[in-house]
Amino acid sequence: MSGKMIVICAPSGTGKSTLLNKLKVEIPELVWSVSCTTRPIRPGEVHGKDYFFIKEQSFKSQIKNDEFIEWARVHSNYYGTSKRFVREGLDKDLKMLFDLDVQGADAMKKIYGQEVKVIFIEPPSIEELEKRLRARGTDSDSVILERIHNARSELQRKHDFDHVIMNDDVEGAYVKLRDLVKGIIS
Ligand code: ADP
Ligand code: 5GP
Repeated sequence: MSGKMIVICAPSGTGKSTLLNKLKVEIPELVWSVSCTTRPIRPGEVHGKDYFFIKEQSFKSQIKNDEFIEWARVHSNYYGTSKRFVREGLDKDLKMLFDLDVQGADAMKKIYGQEVKVIFIEPPSIEELEKRLRARGTDSDSVILERIHNARSELQRKHDFDHVIMNDDVEGAYVKLRDLVKGIIS
């Protein structure tokens, strides 16, 4: 196996997309895994770039056809990673980046062990996380509460992964993430 795989894992609202969008610009050789999801598209998101937004029925038939290397139900929606993307990426020696929840990170570790590195990004506190989710303004109250509830259990898992970065100051967190990723892919 010659490709590199990095999984970024963070409770929703931590600032993962903010950090990853910067990373994509600065390290263009990173190839982004575009997951399938049944979640509704948010304003500004692009089908095929942020996710493949598909109906639950199609998602379930892709599960049946064994098209996902891993899939999970997260915050009441389905999310899955393409098996073909991972296989082809490894064959082509690509540096792949995955944005997964803890279930996805666990699944990738189980399959690829030390060949995959998981970076967990944590918020400074649950209170700050809730503030960020509300400030983002993309989710309803019940969705925000569900994400906060899930964040509490996700945070308990943070030490099970390869690296932990706190996103308190966004610039400082970004530099840590960038340097870590550069080290892994070099
Ligand atoms: P995620 O992808 O982890 O769900 P986002 O990147 O969408 O989170 O960030 C959630 C909200 O928090 C956004 O409004 C974003 O601008 C803001 N945010 C991100 N990082 C920070 C930070 N370090 N300090 C304050 N606000 C932040
Ligand atoms: P969001 O709806 O905010 O884009 O993502 C919700 C959660 O789903 C995030 O924790 C994100 O990392 C996770 N996620 C996105 N794609 C996948 C995937 O393919 N598999 C798994 N297991 N989680 C995913």
